[in-house]
Amino acid sequence: MAHVLIIGAGGVGSVVVHKCAQVPEVFSEITLASRTKAKCDAIAEDVRKRTGIKVATREVDADDVQQSVALIREIKPDLVLNVALPYQDLPLMDACLEAGVDYLDTANYEPPDVAKFEYRWQWAFRERFEQAGLMALLGSGFDPGVTNVFCAWAQKHHFDEIHQLDIIDCNAGDHGQHFATNFNPEINIREITQRGRYWEHGEWVETDPLSWSMTYDFPDGIGPKKCFLMYHEELESLVLHLKGLKRARFWMTFSDQYLTHLRVLENVGMTRIDPVEYQGVPIVPLKFLKAVLPEPASLGPLTKGKTCIGCVLGGIKDGREKRLYIYNICRHEDAFREVGSQAISYTTGVPAMIGAMMMLTGKWKKPGVWHMEQFDPDPFMDALNKHGLPWTAVELK
Ligand code: NDP
Repeated sequence: MAHVLIIGAGGVGSVVVHKCAQVPEVFSEITLASRTKAKCDAIAEDVRKRTGIKVATREVDADDVQQSVALIREIKPDLVLNVALPYQDLPLMDACLEAGVDYLDTANYEPPDVAKFEYRWQWAFRERFEQAGLMALLGSGFDPGVTNVFCAWAQKHHFDEIHQLDIIDCNAGDHGQHFATNFNPEINIREITQRGRYWEHGEWVETDPLSWSMTYDFPDGIGPKKCFLMYHEELESLVLHLKGLKRARFWMTFSDQYLTHLRVLENVGMTRIDPVEYQGVPIVPLKFLKAVLPEPASLGPLTKGKTCIGCVLGGIKDGREKRLYIYNICRHEDAFREVGSQAISYTTGVPAMIGAMMMLTGKWKKPGVWHMEQFDPDPFMDALNKHGLPWTAVELK
């Protein structure tokens, strides 16, 4: 029986609250706080209608450490579950240390003025969390998150050594909009327009943004889709924790229409993250673009089709070569029916709830700052099957 404080009332936050409310034996008390309380209230009302569970709501600016500390001290949660934006990771980790509570997030820290994500800023909290006897679990979404757990499970049960890893993220859904992103547009576009990076023979190799592609034939009727090599944050921790790894890459599918819009927006300067003076007011073009694009949460009723996110792993077991594909299929329509959100928010929110459940039930519990692959994957893999993200593992020829 635990009290969880969820911060961020966006697309992912909404799913996390709905899923926590479905497990009242663990999450006996839920508080949702965000910058805009009205968004928290709307989610709480939807949860009440669907489950009868009451969710408390609060307003907080999580950039302000003292506001978060005051809220934590007042309501005394057992865990702070951060599904606001990556910019809030460090202030919320500081607030958790000051107020003495465990921490979980789904995306690593990014400085607002540089489109760059790295774990070093959050790794710098390790000693302080250890000394305080507190735990921080990083990246408990799908990718990062479930993909890390898939790797840990493969390492535990299927391989003596994993040599190659390809994480492949396919959204075969369609929302019928000319251009929209399935999670926060600002964070999404910053990620996609960065240089690509993969790991080979102990070194990072850089590529021009979206310059490498392959076609992958996805299961469950999805079929062949073009995937683009990108840098993704889970690679940074997985290359440290998988035994014998020689190459690690991350791929994501994009439609031609999406890429054409993105190219035009980049070419005209709309994806810039530095302020531009407009009629005496400094405006960041990407933040303005976010304001005119559809809210990811609004895509729920519009999106049809499936996502397929998984890991293709190659390596050695008992002296023989082996390739394994572990993946989840999630239907946008099913996610919308269950919790009123599209599958991208759903596939992130469910693992955030499960990560919290692992911590609150003591299955995953140790002081310090940890990645998902550093814990026993088995209870998490079982929970995925029970809570809406069933997975399949097939040996590839
Ligand atoms: P949204 O933009 O839909 O929601 C973000 C929410 O955070 C908004 O409700 C916003 O509040 C709130 N917020 C922003 N700044 C603050 C602040 N200073 N204080 C309090 N609340 C704040 O984003 P998503 O739900 O799509 O994404 C949430 C997180 O999930 C992101 O970090 C994203 O990177 C991560 N993610 C992880 C994935 C994974 O697989 N690991 C996949 C997809 C997303 P308001 O609306 O009031 O401004």
